[in-house]
Amino acid sequence: MTSMDLIVQKYGGTSVGSLERIRAVAERVVASLARCRRMVVVVSAMAGETNRLLALARQVSEAPEAREVDALVASGEQVSAALLTIALRALGRPALSLLGHQLPVLTDSNHGRARIRSIDPERVLQALAQGNIVVVAGYQGVNAAGDITTLGRGAGDLTAVALAAALKADLCEIYTDVDGVYTADPNLCASARKLDRISYEEMLEMAGLGAKVLQFRAVGLAWRYGVPLAVRSSFSAGGQGTWVGHEDKAMEEVLVSGVTLDHNQSKLTIAGVADRPGLAARIFGPIAEAGIVVDMIIQNAGAEGRTDVTFTVAREDLPAALDKVKAVAAEIGAQGVRYEEQVAKVSVVGLGMRTHAGVAARMFKALADEGINIEMIATSEIKISVVVNARYGELAMRVLHDMFVPAAAHPGGREDR
Ligand code: ADP
Ligand code: MG
Repeated sequence: MTSMDLIVQKYGGTSVGSLERIRAVAERVVASLARCRRMVVVVSAMAGETNRLLALARQVSEAPEAREVDALVASGEQVSAALLTIALRALGRPALSLLGHQLPVLTDSNHGRARIRSIDPERVLQALAQGNIVVVAGYQGVNAAGDITTLGRGAGDLTAVALAAALKADLCEIYTDVDGVYTADPNLCASARKLDRISYEEMLEMAGLGAKVLQFRAVGLAWRYGVPLAVRSSFSAGGQGTWVGHEDKAMEEVLVSGVTLDHNQSKLTIAGVADRPGLAARIFGPIAEAGIVVDMIIQNAGAEGRTDVTFTVAREDLPAALDKVKAVAAEIGAQGVRYEEQVAKVSVVGLGMRTHAGVAARMFKALADEGINIEMIATSEIKISVVVNARYGELAMRVLHDMFVPAAAHPGGREDR
């Protein structure tokens, strides 16, 4: 096996979910030293811990301050980083834990979803030079004022990729509770199969469309800096997992690489609006100013020269979007506002769609044959998304998966699926 200089590994919440698992991670880290000279390990909080802490804050106050919530939840990663370091030292390996503010991972001041401005690798490099395995608390940083910030859910992946880029690591390995990136969420779709390779571009689409196996921003950063990524299981031994990297010829020949389901979407309709130039600007201006990202939009002509405008937003943005939309509706004399709190967005993603026509038509037919009504459609070069009633989301995902993703030649030697 060719030996590398530096590997960054990241272990998610389930992977460090108990002391037993933390010990197992320590052993895996030590074993990995056979493949490289230096190692940095990024950890998440123990499974369930972040939610437990958030619930505590909400028991104390209905609207806890974002700054204090960050100070609270960042402690989850502090615990797992220290415990893993102690476990490594118990195995006789020099190791040192570092928190976001100790590097520092410098961020803006958007508590709860801060963006990384820069990472100073000096302290990590020093600790590595002294022969340590360096364990870094993921998900957290510090702003210019010295306050602790967090980077958003799933952002342990982001810490790992950003560190790998800053340290010019040879490889960033994401260890999680599945053994790679699958053609659909393996916990929802029994016929999903593991991909050996996927391009940054497809992975970015899938992550943005609901495949949480990798965090969206982490994939974007990996693509921008060309950080080679591997997604592997922290529970099973030896598997090669999935490589995420630049596209190659073989990848382009695959029509659909994956199917995703996103249940965290809401749909709003402003009904019966007089159709004039500038209408869309009137509606979407205030929504954009409130920092709400609108996903899909459709406008259809109704009776008597009036139209309906329908769009989707992330579910967490629904209350704010409703406020804005009701105000606009009153101003422009719309007949009413309707909304569905939860709709399902199902998408197919693949580089092959660039050159193959007819995917959309097959997709619509497959859903129609199941009696599933399509409420909205959006397409881009490498994906097609449809919004359907939340009740049919999982069914739609399975129907599309089995239509577009060819069954594996070898079902992994398992007979129980
Ligand atoms: P971690 O805590 O290790 O970061 P996550 O829960 O964030 O783990 O991500 C792993 C989960 O992602 C899996 O358990 C799986 O349910 C889900 N997932 C969704 N889509 C996919 C996919 N296409 N391939 C693999 N896993 C997926
Ligand atoms: Mg994750």
